[in-house]
Amino acid sequence: MRGSYANLLFPVKLTFELSYRIPPPLEGKVIRGSHVLAPFGNKVVTGLVTKVFDTPPDFQGLIKDITDIAGTGRVSEKEIAFIEWMAQYYMCTPGEVLKAAVGNSIDVTPPKRSNRKKETSKLVNETKNCIKTGRLTREQTYVLDCCRKNIKANIPTLIKGVTGSGKTEIYMELAKEQLSQGKSVLYMVPEIALSKQLTDRLTEHFGRHLLVFHSKMTPAARKKVRESIRNHQEPSIILGLRSSLFLPFDELGLIVVDEEHDNSYKQSDPAPRYNGRDAALMLARIHGAGIVLGSATPSLESIYNCHSGRFSLVELNHKYHSAGTTTTEVIDTIREGQKGSMEGLFSRRTLDAIGQRLQKNEQVLVFRNRRSYSPLVQCMYCGDIPYCNNCNVSLNYHKKRSILKCHYCEYAIRYNTICTKCGRPGLKERGCGTEMIEEQLRMFFPGSKVARFDAETTSSKVNEEKLLSDFAAGNTDILVGTQMISKGFDFGRLTLIVLVQADSMFSSDDFRASEKAMQLLVQLAGRSGRRDTRGHIIVQTARPDNQVYIDFLEGEDGMARELQERKEFGYPPFVRLVRISVKHPSKERVEGFCDIIARKLPEWGVIDFTGPVPPPVERVKREYILNFWVKLKRNTDSPTIKSTIFAGIESLVREAGRGVSVGFDPDPL
Ligand code: ADP
Ligand code: ZN
Repeated sequence: MRGSYANLLFPVKLTFELSYRIPPPLEGKVIRGSHVLAPFGNKVVTGLVTKVFDTPPDFQGLIKDITDIAGTGRVSEKEIAFIEWMAQYYMCTPGEVLKAAVGNSIDVTPPKRSNRKKETSKLVNETKNCIKTGRLTREQTYVLDCCRKNIKANIPTLIKGVTGSGKTEIYMELAKEQLSQGKSVLYMVPEIALSKQLTDRLTEHFGRHLLVFHSKMTPAARKKVRESIRNHQEPSIILGLRSSLFLPFDELGLIVVDEEHDNSYKQSDPAPRYNGRDAALMLARIHGAGIVLGSATPSLESIYNCHSGRFSLVELNHKYHSAGTTTTEVIDTIREGQKGSMEGLFSRRTLDAIGQRLQKNEQVLVFRNRRSYSPLVQCMYCGDIPYCNNCNVSLNYHKKRSILKCHYCEYAIRYNTICTKCGRPGLKERGCGTEMIEEQLRMFFPGSKVARFDAETTSSKVNEEKLLSDFAAGNTDILVGTQMISKGFDFGRLTLIVLVQADSMFSSDDFRASEKAMQLLVQLAGRSGRRDTRGHIIVQTARPDNQVYIDFLEGEDGMARELQERKEFGYPPFVRLVRISVKHPSKERVEGFCDIIARKLPEWGVIDFTGPVPPPVERVKREYILNFWVKLKRNTDSPTIKSTIFAGIESLVREAGRGVSVGFDPDPL
């Protein structure tokens, strides 16, 4: 379309669209999806054209001219549609989504090659030859057939399949079929499951057709992947994290979302606070592509979608290497303590079990969802607990580094036993983290190799890979780890898993706590005894009567009851939840602004909300926080009401915010 004006999008948060004049020489060349150079602030930068029009925009100031066209490449209608959908659904600006997609600046891609067709057909034949797969079992073949049918019928498939049942084999088979039709495949995994193990396995099958994409890659490497996809010189399978949704797909045939229940699909900060799984469903719809979700422990959201007929559910109930099922045991640490059967953090029964496995040259994994040596220290004379200067939270003790450290900000101080309040040498650790567990295991099993896998020890990708490959190769006997260790790894000789102080899985005031705890238990159980040995899992708890443990012992997942409870109390997936967080260093200012929001919400049509309420840690990085929890009916016109709330609050921030910042988190986890 010819026109004299254009709206441009830049990778920055702007709540209004920026209009520019198209100078006559460029008229007709600037279209929706073009990249252009234009003055922005005091620089000339690349922007994305979202609209071209004729009537002069309703703007008092000077309308600047577009400087030039930036490259002849074009962003597709589908990419723009995805950006616009995400901004609307996740309550942010399109500029913020663009920033999530391209970073701080748009790099302009070269034009498409014209000889694409020829190359594709040549490569497709190559693809067919270089990909090899094993023979599927009857159960796998059935599931594969269901997936194929659903892909044709545009119905999302949920594969509920125990760990080791061959979900990955099925994904690969489906991907192979897409590639041989000249279509690309997006294979999504959560943060941590992007392991060398999976990459190696896919490389073996897909060779150079495999492209890996994640945010830890260098900008140049990412650019290369982006260009290769935009040019679509050959169909590829892209293995990536949630950020790979923004790649410039052209012929996208299938999206696989593995471990779909995983929380690390959700971006917590900054906006857009999107869930990679849910956004993948929209991306598939935009492209008319198939989508397959898989998990041993599907999210309640996906189970609900199966019940309501939106998804098609298929199950894989047998492990491929048919090991016996994992046996489970719950140990009451209070009772053990009364009997004098606790040794440090472990019950004697647990220590015996570990010893037996080690003697047979098998491996043990010890899980604890707190890193550090201990989550807090306290003075035994005056009771004082050292807190962070910037956050309302106790400091964690890291023994090896001899520091007290905040897990919410960078604040850290040297540790010594002198209490700053009373001056006496009274500071003692309270509670245990992974570092203390590691220390005790070294003491109990001096001849064994103990390693630790948590955010601290895996801060570098190299260390992370080394810890994993050492454990996989059997060089490590006992691995102590946090949540990170529960996902996507296959360790042949791992036969025993121990959860220490398991109850902290429930300590948050989170309505999803039971769901998450059950998922974790089942995922951990799935990691043990994968090949020819039976696995065993021990849960050490002070609350053995917790329904989740009872269900787990009986081999139930309790999700039907959980779903019923969510329905009764009006929680997701039966309603849509939006968290609105207001922050500012001054508590009064946060409270004052929240008063205004509380008055406005009903005017905007919000009937059901709670707040303002402080989160469990009410001051983080020197800012006070108050939250609103807005409940929206699933069947109301939630796009409109979300846009109203977003626009309303953004304009309040400009008029009366006095510096407060507001974050929107739709479908919070
Ligand atoms: P999941 O993804 O469900 O955890 P995998 O696909 O990783 O399961 O399968 C578990 C193990 O079984 C892998 O080592 C895989 O190679 C093997 N496996 C599964 N199905 C087959 C098959 N049909 N032929 C050969 N090996 C298989
Ligand atoms: Zn802090």
